[in-house]
Amino acid sequence: MFTIKGKTTDWEVVIGLETHIEVLSNSKIFSGASANYNPTIVPNTQACMVDVAMPGMLPVLNKYCVEQAIKFGLGINAEISKHSIFARKQYFYPDLPQGYQISQPASEPPVVGRGWVEIMGDDGKTKKIYIERAHLEQDAGKLKHDMHPTKSFADYNRTGVTLLEIVTFLDTKNPENNSYITSPDEAERYLREIREIARALGVSKANMEEGSMRADVNVSVRPVGSKEFRTRTETKNMVSFKFIKNAIEYEAHRQVEIYENGGTVSQDTMRYSQSEGTTSVLRSKEDALDYRYFPDPDLLELEITDEDIERIRKTMPELPAATRNRYINQLGLSEYDANRLTETTEISKWFDTAVGTKTERAKSIANWMISELFAHPENWDIRNEIKESNPESPRIITPENLAELVDMISTNEINGKQAKDIFIKMLDGERGTIHEIAEKYGMKQITDTSAIESAINEVIANNQAQVEQYKSGKVGLLGFFVGSVMKATHGQANPALVNELLKKKLS
Ligand code: ADP
Ligand code: MG
Repeated sequence: MFTIKGKTTDWEVVIGLETHIEVLSNSKIFSGASANYNPTIVPNTQACMVDVAMPGMLPVLNKYCVEQAIKFGLGINAEISKHSIFARKQYFYPDLPQGYQISQPASEPPVVGRGWVEIMGDDGKTKKIYIERAHLEQDAGKLKHDMHPTKSFADYNRTGVTLLEIVTFLDTKNPENNSYITSPDEAERYLREIREIARALGVSKANMEEGSMRADVNVSVRPVGSKEFRTRTETKNMVSFKFIKNAIEYEAHRQVEIYENGGTVSQDTMRYSQSEGTTSVLRSKEDALDYRYFPDPDLLELEITDEDIERIRKTMPELPAATRNRYINQLGLSEYDANRLTETTEISKWFDTAVGTKTERAKSIANWMISELFAHPENWDIRNEIKESNPESPRIITPENLAELVDMISTNEINGKQAKDIFIKMLDGERGTIHEIAEKYGMKQITDTSAIESAINEVIANNQAQVEQYKSGKVGLLGFFVGSVMKATHGQANPALVNELLKKKLS
């Protein structure tokens, strides 16, 4: 559990995330212009009359984007609203020439209603995080301030691209329901889960570096055990897991300090400074914006039928939660292992490939991945963010390599120590099959009883004093004998066999 030590009480943190993911589609949400904006595309070549709000232009809802939202809704176990509306959220923004954003207002049912995802909680157990809603809206364009000393430029290529905003739920009426995010690590795991679901469904690239996933982070603190939620602040537009975690920690500590000094936290909108690692007030609640929402008269109400939902449901692939259940129920993995191996689709695919049809090796593969592969991120890149922008980076150990390694241990061809040596050699760049490497370095396991027995005899002959001690009850010395025999066989003896034979000989 994540808590902050105070003078008289410990404090816990309550976190609500509003996550924007950019919906993958060829064209924008209300126009036919290409939604494929990126920094290499010439500014304002992907913006049509609708996007720049020329008088008389009319928005037309993109059906495919609605289907993407429904698909995502099903992916987060949500209710899909049969009926929802689009409204105008008024504000002046130079990169959204309409003068309002078309969105789905919080006062009306959004296309995706109440749902939930599962993440690994800080206690290693699966935890449900409830989601209040996910709604469709338009993105704004981009202002460029660094192209000219005195002028700014507007690029409308992104204007009108589809966003899905996913908001976590806080059950204020039922304080016993603790299905919300309560630590920086859980916030990261929640965002990764959203990202993986979106990617598995093809709904979004959900890439924070590219800006196709961004989050507003709401944070409040309260004394551990207290039931009411206190005032939260909201830090806007965060685009990295690391900064999000930093901002939560900083903000939580800041609030604790205010309370400890007898002050009150005000419901402010914050800005996070990447260089300072701090949050500061962007605007206070007193200047809270009145967006004057009203239903957009140019758009029809959105009607979704059961047939639409069922047709989309049929196209759904296996999502991380189902993969986790499969690992637990069919492969016998622990909840912790199952969670770790579904952190990304790449990891679970890798694991599935390594296990192949030999489900009996699943547990060993899982152990090796979690305790060895994940511990060497510098060589092993599936968990590394850099990997995403560099798909060519070398994969030093393949699923096939690990399967072979695990199999050689289970058939007693090599022992665990030798396997680890081979593993390290491969991380250091050694190439070939595991059999080839084992052979090259003369690693094989001695399972020949007579060879082990002769080593045991030698160790016993050379350590008569210890033998006497052992026989007179100091059984803890067994470890010493096993060690000596392993040494005498250059680490090649099968440790289980050594143990068994030693016990027999010494009794
Ligand atoms: P708004 O639309 O004004 O940003 P919402 O009520 O929709 O506010 O809440 C936005 C997010 O803030 C939600 O994820 C919600 O769960 C979260 N939130 C609301 N109250 C708190 C609180 N006291 N502490 C932490 N998070 C909160
Ligand atoms: Mg908000």
